[in-house]
Amino acid sequence: MAQTKSGKAAGKGKASNLIKGGTGDWEVVVGMEVHAQVNSRAKLFSGASTAFGAAPNSHVSLVDAAMPGMLPVINEECVYQAIRTGLGLNAKINLKSVFDRKNYFYPDLPQGYQISQYKHPIVGEGQVEIDVDGETVTVGIERLHLEQDAGKLIHDQDPERSYVDLNRAGVALMEIVSKPDIRSARQAQAYVAKLRTILRYLGTCDGDMEKGNLRADVNVSVRRPGEPLGTRCEIKNVNSIRFIGQAVEAEARRQIEILEDGGAIEQETRLFDAEKGVTRAMRSKEEAHDYRYFPDPDLLPLELEPDLVERLKAGLPELPDAKRQRFMKEYGLSAYDAGVLVAERESADYFEAVAKGRDGKLAANWVINELFGRLNREGRLIGDSPVAAAQLGAIVGLIGDGTISGKIAKDVFEIVWTEGGDPAEIVEKRGLKQVTDTGAIEAAVEAILASNPDKVAQAKSKPAMLGWFVGQVMKATGGKANPAAVNEILRRKIGI
Ligand code: MN
Repeated sequence: MAQTKSGKAAGKGKASNLIKGGTGDWEVVVGMEVHAQVNSRAKLFSGASTAFGAAPNSHVSLVDAAMPGMLPVINEECVYQAIRTGLGLNAKINLKSVFDRKNYFYPDLPQGYQISQYKHPIVGEGQVEIDVDGETVTVGIERLHLEQDAGKLIHDQDPERSYVDLNRAGVALMEIVSKPDIRSARQAQAYVAKLRTILRYLGTCDGDMEKGNLRADVNVSVRRPGEPLGTRCEIKNVNSIRFIGQAVEAEARRQIEILEDGGAIEQETRLFDAEKGVTRAMRSKEEAHDYRYFPDPDLLPLELEPDLVERLKAGLPELPDAKRQRFMKEYGLSAYDAGVLVAERESADYFEAVAKGRDGKLAANWVINELFGRLNREGRLIGDSPVAAAQLGAIVGLIGDGTISGKIAKDVFEIVWTEGGDPAEIVEKRGLKQVTDTGAIEAAVEAILASNPDKVAQAKSKPAMLGWFVGQVMKATGGKANPAAVNEILRRKIGI
């Protein structure tokens, strides 16, 4: 997104989110509706399995297939998951909520309606904090409601026919609706990433966007700064964080172009074409009354005991914001490093296992730079890291107590990565211990000084030369000399 420089010039100290148009600045306004599949073995109103990848129509109960006379029965676990999620979003839990029928016709919806929640959702207002470019933005949550997913149409197997797979029909979804508090493509991405992190911590949704288990409808409008909200378009089912950013930018540009040409935005539903990087009209926007919502007569209002909510609250894990604060305090980490480590619960746990009882900053450096760097290069996840937390912890411990230098530690890391083994044993067996014996270091220093008299003369007036000598001594000792001792001896012998 083109960012104006005027924000900085005006001394705000942060990049402006405004978009430069042909006739002045524009502000993009984004609100999101995220559909998150609930982690639950059974569907929202039937006992059929939610397992992914099964043969078509093998996980379909009579309820899911909408056989006449079948009655839905609420799955308690899905309700608990929605409450946990609401609590994790700092939101109000509504002790009474109502399931409604949202009526529409589509071949993947055998009931002819979706059971959803309309006027009385299970979760009310809440908020999520995101960090973008050093700025913390609070995004309001409007509501969270429970609803059924639809089935899937398969068009690409046969040019003459379409098929219906009802395995997904009736699976529980949480629809999480944000307020229009998002002001840039980067904020939109950060919001969905943060939501995904929170859901994964809570264990209420696996956040797998590739499988469609987390998908975002992105509402985009533009306006002149300070003006009322413009007409919005909804971009349906964007299924990756990268595409969310691209879709917001493309849609904002499209709307700005129309408005600057004197046109008007029509409220409509659009699709993002990732290949061409543009949004395309799908259908004109339907209004709530088109769905003829009414309370589902097959289901009683959902009433929750306050005790249940309290019990679920007490069972919540430490969430990413709290963990980040604790990492900063307990291990002395920067906000940035702590943020990187808590983005996934598994990374945070790994880091803590490495850092416990050791130098926290050193541990963070090794986890973020060496381990994550290597995992990224090899396209692996932390769950299948060849170096276990106990092994990396041992390496960090060996650096911390002066047994090995940071440079040797990289070699040990490499050995553990490729061959496995116990770091302390590797160091012992291969003779990698740091040389702290000053006699041995002095001998190496003297040899280097004797063969470089010109450089010694230079170093007397230019102490920055010291680094070169340190490098030579380290090389001569196979990287095993204690750098602090090398430094000290060099300074003394050169006389600086
Ligand atoms: Mn929905």
